[in-house]
Amino acid sequence: MIGLLGGTFDPIHFGHLRSALDCLQALDLHEVRFIPLNVAVHRPQPVAPAALRLAMLEAAIAGQPGLVADTRELTRPGGSFSHDTLVSLRSELGGVEPLCLLIGWDAFEGFLDWYRPLEILDLAHLVVMHRPGSVDGLSPDLEDLVRRRGCADPGVLRDSPGGRILFQPVTQMEVSSTRIRQLIRRGLSPRYLLPDPVLALCEREGLYR
Ligand code: ATP
Repeated sequence: MIGLLGGTFDPIHFGHLRSALDCLQALDLHEVRFIPLNVAVHRPQPVAPAALRLAMLEAAIAGQPGLVADTRELTRPGGSFSHDTLVSLRSELGGVEPLCLLIGWDAFEGFLDWYRPLEILDLAHLVVMHRPGSVDGLSPDLEDLVRRRGCADPGVLRDSPGGRILFQPVTQMEVSSTRIRQLIRRGLSPRYLLPDPVLALCEREGLYR
């Protein structure tokens, strides 16, 4: 069973990394693939160039077994739709291996507005990384989907290639790439919010000033 964490990673920070490691361990995943997007479709475009976002990602996960970078969106022209990424992964990995799309709570709230959400859910499970204890406040349509597809036992995810929704509590870290970019723009240090080698790359390349 493989975990997939898509994002801008502009820059990658400890919120992404700790959540990925929590899921890797809690769900006993074979690996978590970080998939940096090329062209955003639901949000403003990334600030740092793709090559530097990838370099920061690789520096962040270097030496950590189970965390890997997957560059398929960066090499695919046009909008980075999760649906297309999952189709590409399925053509490579086949239809049997369970895939878990890891998404934050904020991203899940807008899931039904994504491109082909129900097909995404056929291609993979959704693992919603959330704050322990809080899983309410969803729209009625999303609540209905959770009623039909939700499961509480991570073991159930291994029984099918996709189609289920699991809420996975992860370590809460009040950190976002936006905040890191704002700190750097104001001339303040974002240290301890992201790995030192990532910060060193930001400084060397003059990113986010
Ligand atoms: P930005 O501030 O630029 O919007 P971000 O910090 O939210 O960026 P993304 O690269 O957009 O980072 O996020 C990729 C994925 O990681 C999303 O599913 C998002 O919900 C999740 N994520 C982001 N920050 C955290 C965090 N602190 N803890 C857990 N998950 C997070």
